[in-house]
Amino acid sequence: MELPTETASLAVEFANTLVHDGRGGVDDLLSSAAAAQRWLRGHRLSPDAGYESLLAARSATRALFAAAVAPYPASRADNGRTAMPTATALQLLSGNVGALAPATRYAYDAGRVTVTRSTRLEPGAAAVGVLSLAVLELLASPAADEMRACQAPRCVRYFRKHRRQEWCKPSCANRARVARYAERHQPTADDSANADASGPPR
Ligand SMILES: [Zn+2]
Repeated sequence: MELPTETASLAVEFANTLVHDGRGGVDDLLSSAAAAQRWLRGHRLSPDAGYESLLAARSATRALFAAAVAPYPASRADNGRTAMPTATALQLLSGNVGALAPATRYAYDAGRVTVTRSTRLEPGAAAVGVLSLAVLELLASPAADEMRACQAPRCVRYFRKHRRQEWCKPSCANRARVARYAERHQPTADDSANADASGPPR
């Protein structure tokens, strides 16, 4: 089978299969084999990927992403958890890519060099390798310097920062703004004393 070409966002979305649950906790888009099959189908990968090896590859991915964003803070979903050591994570993902054994073919298309990669593995056996390759290619590229963990309240996502963008998406930017506003406008003891003296606010 031919491997997907645009894989940077696939790598980020794989890392972001941990999501906030809206209540300060974390939900897992790969919480069961059935959930994992849904996620894989949604990303045009075979749902026949091994569930355990998919989870192991995700742990390895999160460990490498957490290391890649340093000195910026890791996702809060990775704080306080026993992360996989980066050497182990790297070994695991490169092992998956090794099993995939991608063959690279270059061609000319209208004067431009194009590249395609393919594997002899069946799609089901290839899926975890495809994800592992996407993650390692991203982290080995200049884009690795742009990776950040979103620090908006509750968010646990990694994202690729563009220019002055601070948050992974507009809803996070809104939440962060609201939180900052609330922090600045928290009534202090003095404020409430003044409020009492001058009557209720109009
Ligand atoms: Zn976010």
